[in-house]
Amino acid sequence: MITLNDYAPIVGDEVVGQLCRLAERLQGRRFVHINSTAVGGGVAEILSRAVPLLNQLGLETTWEVIMGDPAFFEVTKAFHNGLQGFKVHLTHAMLEHYRQVNRENARRFNWEADVVLVHDPQPATLIEEMRPQSRRWVWRCHVDASRPHLPVWRFLRGIVKHYDASVFSMSQFAQNLPHPQYLIRPSIDPLSEKNRSLTEEEIKAVLQRLGIERDKPIILQVSRFDSFKDPVGVIQAFRLVRRHTPCKLLLAGGEATDDPEGPQILAQVHEAAQGEPDIQVLLLPSDAHHEVNALQRAADIIVQKSTREGFGLTVTEAMWKGRPVIGGAVGGIVLQLRDYHTGFAVHSPEGCAFRIRYLLHRPEMARRMGLTAREYVRTQFLITRHIRDYLTLMILQDNPNSRLIQL
Ligand code: UDP
Repeated sequence: MITLNDYAPIVGDEVVGQLCRLAERLQGRRFVHINSTAVGGGVAEILSRAVPLLNQLGLETTWEVIMGDPAFFEVTKAFHNGLQGFKVHLTHAMLEHYRQVNRENARRFNWEADVVLVHDPQPATLIEEMRPQSRRWVWRCHVDASRPHLPVWRFLRGIVKHYDASVFSMSQFAQNLPHPQYLIRPSIDPLSEKNRSLTEEEIKAVLQRLGIERDKPIILQVSRFDSFKDPVGVIQAFRLVRRHTPCKLLLAGGEATDDPEGPQILAQVHEAAQGEPDIQVLLLPSDAHHEVNALQRAADIIVQKSTREGFGLTVTEAMWKGRPVIGGAVGGIVLQLRDYHTGFAVHSPEGCAFRIRYLLHRPEMARRMGLTAREYVRTQFLITRHIRDYLTLMILQDNPNSRLIQL
């Protein structure tokens, strides 16, 4: 089992010591996380790592997953799309179904907590059923809510305003709400199967198993098949690069159980990739962490060409592996990627193609960018920093009326 002390060689003894000191103030507190999928996507990825560590630190931390039918996830995907700016239409019947499914979930839950952290809109309305079961309710928004479709936000705000606080990934996403809002950036776990170091043999074995030859430079995007991740835009960029520079494109993606749009976007990807032998679409199971790790390490350049992005853990994952990243200049991507230092932020398929070609012709620059990227992640985006932020949030919730808190 991985223990907190295993992180000391990476982040330093002082960081680990600080976590223990903060946690001393919270011994025995009950901390519940609720989201809507146990696998797939960034939220599940973080919770699977953070929950055991919080328990090791002496907080009684549990992770609950709400269940829903396909109609429920259609509604919540519409919330997701609406929060990220799409003009979606929600009927009264859809909203009532959303509440009904959460009511049914509330009947299954019998925990009590000091603080409950409710992730994203799917379980948000649980507060209406379960308010007395936790002293403090905090809503955690992981999506890019910088320019929400207003009818969707108005509906969700009617629920979120009952919370004691909310958490966003960056200030641009913060909203007009009647409670304190905190900014907490996501993180990756350097010791997880997704991010631990691999030997060259391990990488080779994965590529062989997946039928990938390393005969040309590899461009990689890892993400769910979601329109905001713009996989079709990545293919357009790749086709422009391929006209002049030999390389291959890997689009690796899987399914999140709470995302009903995947098959439709995947069909668009297959259509856009038709007739191009240097594009490989890899459908991976949601627990293919080792494979994703190896692919990220085998790639020469990693792309995350999203058009909206709550955070984009794949960017940090790639940076940790010392790879330059070319990312859409949106949302959480610009929080991670240092333009011109760790990669490039782009605004279009043409811009993306230009930067891919630019880096393919400058391998030494790509290598240096990768080194800078890894060090930046080490100081800013590892799970130890995230745990520190959660502990601080808990201390703030423990002392809601204090204006001065000694940490
Ligand atoms: N991921 C994966 N397999 C896939 C696609 C994605 O393991 O086929 C992982 C990816 O490595 C990252 C997470 O899922 O850890 C996606 O998080 P991100 O914040 O990038 O996007 P989200 O899906 O949450 O919008």
